[in-house]
Amino acid sequence: MGDLLIFSSQCISCAHKRDILTGKGSRFLLCQLSLKDSRLEKYPRQPMLTCPHYLKENSSSENTQQSIEKSKQDFSQ
Ligand code: SF4
Repeated sequence: MGDLLIFSSQCISCAHKRDILTGKGSRFLLCQLSLKDSRLEKYPRQPMLTCPHYLKENSSSENTQQSIEKSKQDFSQ
């Protein structure tokens, strides 16, 4: 994944992302919301310029739960 692409992605500063580093040095961004909602991509295509589920890192766990609920509502419509 190119650095320019990844640094323009919202996933970089999102509380839902988790960095996955492989033994061969590849880097992937896992969207942890996808573990709770199978309709979301586990490894979102990068760069993710605008995501409706974005949650700034260091937000409270209450906000995280609200974002998960919003995700469920968005997909149920
Ligand atoms: S919620 Fe959106 S911005 Fe956050 S990690 Fe998932 S895909 Fe990226």
